[in-house]
Order: sequence, then C-alpha cells, then structure tokens
Amino acid sequence: MGIKIDALKCTNCMACEMACGYHRDDGFAFLSACIVPYRAREKKDYFGVLLKEEDSLVVARPEGTEINRIGEEADPDKEADASAKPMLLREACDLCEDMKYGPMCVKICPVDAISVAE
Ligand code: SF4
Ligand code: SF4
Repeated sequence: MGIKIDALKCTNCMACEMACGYHRDDGFAFLSACIVPYRAREKKDYFGVLLKEEDSLVVARPEGTEINRIGEEADPDKEADASAKPMLLREACDLCEDMKYGPMCVKICPVDAISVAE
C-alpha cells in the first residue's frame, strides 16, 4: 500500500504539504512534510509532487512518475533535483497511521490528485 499521485491534476495549492506537516508536528510545519509540491521555474502551469517513502523518493511529474531508490544517483538534468536533496532528510510517509481519518494528503487534496494505491 502506498500513495499514488496524479501530477496532471495537481494545481500546486500546497494543501497536501500543510496537512502532512500537521500530521508530523501538530502544526503547519512545512519542513517536516514528506510530500512536497513544486512548480517548474521556466514552464507555465507545470506542477509536480515529491514524496519521500521509506526506500525511495517518488517524483510525480505531468509526464509520468519516477521512483528513485534512495542511495542511487539521480539524473542531474531533472527539474526536481534541486528540491530533492532536502527531502531525503525527512521522515518517510507512514500513511498517517496514527490519524483517525487516514492519509491526510488524500483527504485534503481538492482535485483528487492523491490516492491510496493497494
Ligand atoms: S499519507 Fe500522511 S504521511 Fe504520507 S504523505 Fe500523505 S500526509 Fe504525509
Ligand atoms: S493538495 Fe493536491 S492539488 Fe494541492 S498541491 Fe497537493 S497534490 Fe497538488
């Protein structure tokens, strides 16, 4: 079971990052979120989402999702790499196991871009 992200639907509202930070810290602490939306610097309306999992860093882009095993070299030409490095220091997604209503990012995303994959 894990989190699945459809970056084509993402509007970069950042609600998932806030919700995840809340789950971690009982406050809106962006730096503790393990899900982080990003926007491309030079492409208009191009949004992606990074997700730190136990063994991998998931990079969901509009053109598809890439799963990078932690410890392997990332492609230096990829757009998300600048934001990927701080992500590796964060706690991994635990599917909000202690939260009454389940995965917070799934619940809060206004465009259903995040779902739970079996
Ligand atoms: S399921 Fe919970 S821990 Fe995992 S990314 Fe979403 S909000 Fe964060
Ligand atoms: S909550 Fe949904 S729309 Fe908003 S940034 Fe996260 S994935 Fe994108």
